[in-house]
Amino acid sequence: MSLNDLGFSKKGQALYKKIIALQEELKSQQVIPEDQFNQDIVADMIRDGAPLISKLPPCMGRDTFQDTIHRLCLLFIQYVPERKGEIEEIMNLRSQFYAGMDIQAILKEHKQIKADLLALILENAYRPYYLALAEKLRNLNDLNTWEKHYCPVCGETASLASLDEQDGQRFLWCSYCTTGWHFRRLACLECGNINHEELKYFYLEDDSNLQVHTCTKCKSYIKTVRRGVIKQKNLPLIDAQTVCLDLLAEREGYRR
Ligand SMILES: [Zn+2]
Ligand SMILES: [Zn+2]
Repeated sequence: MSLNDLGFSKKGQALYKKIIALQEELKSQQVIPEDQFNQDIVADMIRDGAPLISKLPPCMGRDTFQDTIHRLCLLFIQYVPERKGEIEEIMNLRSQFYAGMDIQAILKEHKQIKADLLALILENAYRPYYLALAEKLRNLNDLNTWEKHYCPVCGETASLASLDEQDGQRFLWCSYCTTGWHFRRLACLECGNINHEELKYFYLEDDSNLQVHTCTKCKSYIKTVRRGVIKQKNLPLIDAQTVCLDLLAEREGYRR
């Protein structure tokens, strides 16, 4: 099983579920600096259109971060045993991982470790902090005025949209930190195009609840589901499970 196949396979999805459960558990242990996180920083974020993380960089304690890497590596060994040697090497090196580390130097020195696996593990090790930050922000602001195609917390491009059938509202979702925010329904996320003849959608024959909305002008797309289908904490899993739609869209010349 390669890392690219993870979303497709049953084993890969089982791993995703374990990782999500671990990250939810670790979320409550994160310490967000109270003196810096307040209404003022949120107002600045919205005014500048700059994700929160650019104003409040992640500050996970070294021990918490390294312990998270250790626990993630144990899960990866269990589900991706064919890369056990590489994962164990990452696990043994964890004391070298901290904010501001030189990843390229680590990869250069440890040739057995491939960049894709290290990036995946580190990305998942930071995630509990982002989940905690996103939850704090949700309690402070409903994000109805954000209206950008990227996440207000971590800056990732929205990976999914959902439509509320009752009031016709559209929400965008970040599968990394699970933030959701309002976005006008009949406009392209990327270029703002509102010409409905250039805004189209398609879906797989057997499931009209799962659609790909495209803009033929700038060739961008967004996977779109009915609101009820979204379970916030499972967003990374939903994103992975619908990777066939990404492949279809890419085959038609669209990009995320
Ligand atoms: Zn995010
Ligand atoms: Zn567009």
